[in-house]
Amino acid sequence: MIPYGRQQISDADIQAVVEVLKSDYLTQGPAVPAFEKAVAAYCGAGHAVAVNSATSALHLACLALGVQAGDQVWTTPITFVASANCALYCGAAVDFVDIDPETFNISVQALQEKLHSAEQCGCLPKVVIAVHLCGLSCDMAAIHRLSKRYGFRIIEDASHAIGGKYQNQPIGNCRYSDISVFSFHPVKIITTGEGGLALTNDAELATHMALLRSHGITRDAEEMTHEPDGPWYYQQIELGFNYRMTDLQAALGLSQLKRLDAFVARRHKLAGFYRQYLAGSPVVVQSQPEDCYSALHLFVIRLQLDDCKKSHREVFCCLREAGIGANLHYIPVHLQPYYQQRGFKPGDFPQAERYYAEAMSLPLYPDLIEAQQLHVVATLRASV
Ligand SMILES: *Cc1c(COP(=O)(O)O)cnc(C)c1O
Repeated sequence: MIPYGRQQISDADIQAVVEVLKSDYLTQGPAVPAFEKAVAAYCGAGHAVAVNSATSALHLACLALGVQAGDQVWTTPITFVASANCALYCGAAVDFVDIDPETFNISVQALQEKLHSAEQCGCLPKVVIAVHLCGLSCDMAAIHRLSKRYGFRIIEDASHAIGGKYQNQPIGNCRYSDISVFSFHPVKIITTGEGGLALTNDAELATHMALLRSHGITRDAEEMTHEPDGPWYYQQIELGFNYRMTDLQAALGLSQLKRLDAFVARRHKLAGFYRQYLAGSPVVVQSQPEDCYSALHLFVIRLQLDDCKKSHREVFCCLREAGIGANLHYIPVHLQPYYQQRGFKPGDFPQAERYYAEAMSLPLYPDLIEAQQLHVVATLRASV
């Protein structure tokens, strides 16, 4: 089976992990701060907090921004469930904003309209989570303008997007947001096995997320309620978690980071082949606005069903039967049973639902080769 995505592990990656295994610290050693520093420098952000998953990073980001019961958090329905669940972890309510049918990202127009009516009823969101689907940045300048007008904070769920650019600057620099989050799951752009990271330019948000990452415990005398009892002393000043990244993971991440630009360049080359080979077939691909350089985590096509002989499901099954691990990113979150129990229903976000009826992800990862892409496209052409 050709998977839709997979990691690339080099000898240097293995060596980097082995070195940590032979060192004094498997966790809470020097590799995690070194990785944080390197990612912050790469992205041009002030502070980085590495954690054990992007899901944890999203949770900490919401907590640091003060999300709590009574608040609303808005995001796109076309995302992984974690982008919405993080708000529920904090006791807040989630609502969704429909997508733009061309970029597949949150629609700025739909956001503007929803904000306008929310203002009338006094139910504006505290936070909007913008998800850069497939690694393509949302229209952050526009979302940022709306945040000034309506007074909400912004988290970028950039789980797909490390190595991408927006307005010629690295995604993750938080120019138009409070916090940006990356995932290092093996299918993502670079991996740490499991892992995530939050970036921010706000030192207080960074300190708060770092505190919550490790039980809410501080060893900094300045943060304590009184002078330390002695050199052994620490205080728990908030209810935190164990969301720490290990040094094994961070060492792998540091080693992978060296190939990040090459990974993204390779993804662009392969995506270029797909676009070329798919020309004339009844599919549309994600539009690429001029001010965006996608990290291309995913290559999503939408079937133009009026021009296909087979159904979406039949085409998908043909690919799977031919050994192609096509996938579907994503099932609209509001259609998940858990969210339906919370009052959402089919028809709520028509563009997202239409996307779901047409979309599939074709294999895309650095070690994919052109011959495999030709097999994917030939199978697709024979099955639509
Ligand atoms: C993968 C992903 C996450 C969660 O990442 P983990 O590191 O697996 O927790 C969150 N949001 C999006 C959009 C993702 O693709």
